[in-house]
Amino acid sequence: MTGHEFGFELRVCAWAEQRWRPEGDDVPRIVARQLGTRNRRWDTVVVEVDPEGLAQRRRFGEQRLDSDLLHVVRHAPADWQYYRDALPHPGYPWRYVRAAVHQAADRGVVETRRNGNKIELRRKWPYPDWVERIVAIENKPDLDASAADALADQLERDVALGLADEVWLATESDGDVERALLTEIPVEAGILAFDDGAASVEWLPQSLDADATGTRITDRPSGGAFDQSAAGFEYVDADWKADKRLELAERAYERGWRSYVDTMRPDCRHFRVVEADHGYVPRCAAKQREQTAAECSGSCPEYEPEPPAWRQRGWPIEGGPGATVRDVLSERRDRQR
Ligand code: SF4
Repeated sequence: MTGHEFGFELRVCAWAEQRWRPEGDDVPRIVARQLGTRNRRWDTVVVEVDPEGLAQRRRFGEQRLDSDLLHVVRHAPADWQYYRDALPHPGYPWRYVRAAVHQAADRGVVETRRNGNKIELRRKWPYPDWVERIVAIENKPDLDASAADALADQLERDVALGLADEVWLATESDGDVERALLTEIPVEAGILAFDDGAASVEWLPQSLDADATGTRITDRPSGGAFDQSAAGFEYVDADWKADKRLELAERAYERGWRSYVDTMRPDCRHFRVVEADHGYVPRCAAKQREQTAAECSGSCPEYEPEPPAWRQRGWPIEGGPGATVRDVLSERRDRQR
């Protein structure tokens, strides 16, 4: 990913946080980046939420509930019950479920007690229905013919699987490119064009049936004149999709989109955050441009720790400018939740 692509991705996230939906009324949402499944990662994910459900979700803490913990909290009974009687068989050994029950108790999201040699549990709160819709956005600021080809293929797979309720492509505005785009990109995908920070809808997406069985395209013919092979596909069960959607929403809840700072080096003397159209983006004073998350690491040749003098006020408890950047971004992430 180039610095430009990374910066564009952050701008799309910041814009979505302020403006979603692009056409129509504002809806409560959580925005995250670089989330997906083992086989597919989206650049920007917008989780549209039910505000009351989200308020109830907050009782389960800031950390995500992974699939094992979700299995426990979603099925934990209101009254004490042996965990094997209360929870449906998960399809893997019970000892893993028992470990997840203990983990859930350690996190304070269920209660447990011992009855003889049996572990019993009961819920503290019902797990709420807080996720309304999931929207996946693929970002490509500099779209050329080969990128459009690759994106069209990815978006066709997203549409067939229907894990998200909508898929979009976000790009930078360019009249010629847009015309080419419309012919390449599947009609079910929406197209957003950004120009100087303002987004316009070039094509509205169709809602996908996220509750229905999906189709995973496993193989497709190259399309050459001599290629007569058939496309390969498999069906994906609706329950699997429902579970994955919730896991995805949980990850979005935990991470938001500002977590990039966790893997970058705001403690480097060259690290800056600058105001962009809808929020702040990182910039490297040494490189004189926006850096990517990958290159902004301890192995960066220009990395220099911020001088101790910068940290004198409040140091070492509050830290220097780098720590302030972390604090500000983390506080904004909490506010979004
Ligand atoms: S010099 Fe390297 S580590 Fe320092 S801010 Fe720039 S990219 Fe990041």
